[in-house]
Amino acid sequence: MLITNHVLAGALVGFAARRRPMLAAAVGCASHFALDSLPHWGTDDERRFTRVAIIDGICGLAAIGIIARTAPRSHRFSMLAGIFGSCLPDLDKPTDLFYGRSPFPGVVDRFHAAVQREAPHRLPHELRVAVGLAAGVAAVEVITARIPTFSGGRSRITVTNSVARLSADPRAAVE
Ligand SMILES: [Zn+2]
Repeated sequence: MLITNHVLAGALVGFAARRRPMLAAAVGCASHFALDSLPHWGTDDERRFTRVAIIDGICGLAAIGIIARTAPRSHRFSMLAGIFGSCLPDLDKPTDLFYGRSPFPGVVDRFHAAVQREAPHRLPHELRVAVGLAAGVAAVEVITARIPTFSGGRSRITVTNSVARLSADPRAAVE
């Protein structure tokens, strides 16, 4: 599956795992193999694959940059940890290209290859998945920004302060 989709899926996993970066990375890593086992794009045409991989890599890096800047502070680290975990299994692609070998044990590489369900006509399908995942990431970021208590913001503290003021001075309730 395109690395951009792994980035976006990892961000959503990290959002759900809020403030638990180790869990986010572990579930993100598992999500990689789950997504690779769904029908997705792939080709034996090396030139086409390289062309798409370069564009995909740039889009994936751009997505990481945007998420790092726009993610709610309360979820940012776990979202980045989720992205790290979800992209980790594909580290074999660049290391294979530059060093001719995978950094993982053979059993991991064999499992990674075995779960793939690739077909060359599924690029539009992958792009639709990318749009859906990007919309999901944008939605959770916007919702979190609008609901301060969800992001660990001030609303709860304000309520607590009001109760404290109320018990200290009942007239404060009028304000
Ligand atoms: Zn993969």
